[in-house]
Amino acid sequence: MDGSADVVVVGAGAAGLSLASRLAGGPLDVVLVSPDTPAAPKTWCYWEPGDGRWDPVVGARWDLARVHGPDGAELLLPLAPYTYKMVRSPDHERHALDRIAAGGVRRVAAEVDTVSDGPEHATVRGRDAAGREVVLTARWVYDSRPVPPAAAGRVHLLQHFRGWFVETARPAFEPGVATFMDFRTPQPAGGVSFGYLLPTSATRALVEYTEFTRDVLSDSGYSAALRQYTGDVLGLPDFTVTDVEEGAIPLTDAPFPRRVGRRVFRIGTAGGATRPSTGYTFAAVQRQVEHIATALAAGRDPAPPAAYGRRHLWMDQVLLRGLDAGEIDGAAFFMRLFDRQPTARVLRFLDGATSPREDLAVMGAAPLGPMLRTLLPG
Ligand SMILES: Cc1cc2nc3c(=O)[nH]c(=O)nc-3n(C[C@H](O)[C@H](O)[C@H](O)COP(=O)(O)OP(=O)(O)OC[C@H]3O[C@@H](n4cnc5c(N)ncnc54)[C@H](O)[C@@H]3O)c2cc1C
Repeated sequence: MDGSADVVVVGAGAAGLSLASRLAGGPLDVVLVSPDTPAAPKTWCYWEPGDGRWDPVVGARWDLARVHGPDGAELLLPLAPYTYKMVRSPDHERHALDRIAAGGVRRVAAEVDTVSDGPEHATVRGRDAAGREVVLTARWVYDSRPVPPAAAGRVHLLQHFRGWFVETARPAFEPGVATFMDFRTPQPAGGVSFGYLLPTSATRALVEYTEFTRDVLSDSGYSAALRQYTGDVLGLPDFTVTDVEEGAIPLTDAPFPRRVGRRVFRIGTAGGATRPSTGYTFAAVQRQVEHIATALAAGRDPAPPAAYGRRHLWMDQVLLRGLDAGEIDGAAFFMRLFDRQPTARVLRFLDGATSPREDLAVMGAAPLGPMLRTLLPG
């Protein structure tokens, strides 16, 4: 199959679907190329003030969050003006595909092999499920296929986790409160671990065990960690596991360039939208998409913006190296951060939207000595 378009979007995950559905119904001729293979469902959470684009498919929301220290100390954090929202990827996909279909975006089912740049147009080549070649040319290509970083970084941790969707026989959860980080889990020698709890009713919740460490755990390692967290820490009454979700998100200071040609850009995780210190990506994807759509409509250079500024990436690098080297006590660091800073500022900081003055305050909440030691060569 041969074809041409104004814009080709490669990949139909969070970034590809968000961009293609945002451009749907506009003046540009848009094609979305992705393989027909179903992806494992994911639960995406993010915070934003007020209403948002994905509200029609938000499955749960919270205005309060909790953080627990290793000793059981508890912080209850009002999130205003933000709300923490949860979208399940199948709902996001269904909603995006409805808009894509209604808005005239063409879909091509193919696995892309190469995207090559050119002065007037870029070319996307791939194969459909029957092995036939697919060639598409476009003025602009936005590629969201996963890629390794463009160069080695100084730190490569993973945010790796397994979550159980649980249903208890008796009420056991407070539906209005999300637990962001619960450090009453055994802490690894390097890195940090915590529980994460998203209650959707008094008897249903997603309960996750998460680590920021170098390597994923074995199957039995995650099961043991979740048993310890649901049993010893949460003391959950009889429950059944209705579904399981897991993932490993790279936390690295390695570069992910957004512009890889005159007419070829990367978006999503491939385009640096994952915050190195947290793994949060979804909200940054939405910011990238909005910027691209506005630039395309205005006839400006439609390159995706940097998801996070240099200062914030530098701070992330210091934190990750400190965690990796065992120089920073992750549980103490995050507890102090949430305890000593207004929650709205912490959330803006994690969005990369704080000023230098606010960043100094954030750094002041952390023990500076060990963090700076991580910058020494070696
Ligand atoms: C289980 C899990 C939970 C997460 N939870 C959160 C969360 O709560 N909040 C948050 O902010 N972030 C979260 N993340 C991180 C991040 O938001 C997700 O990884 C998100 O899916 C990244 O979007 P993306 O579009 O960059 O990549 P993906 O969603 O992985 O999309 C990449 C797309 O490229 C396609 N593709 C691959 N190869 C080809 C090819 N050769 N040709 C064409 N298409 C191809 C794939 O089919 C896929 O559709 C989570 C990640 C995981 C794994």
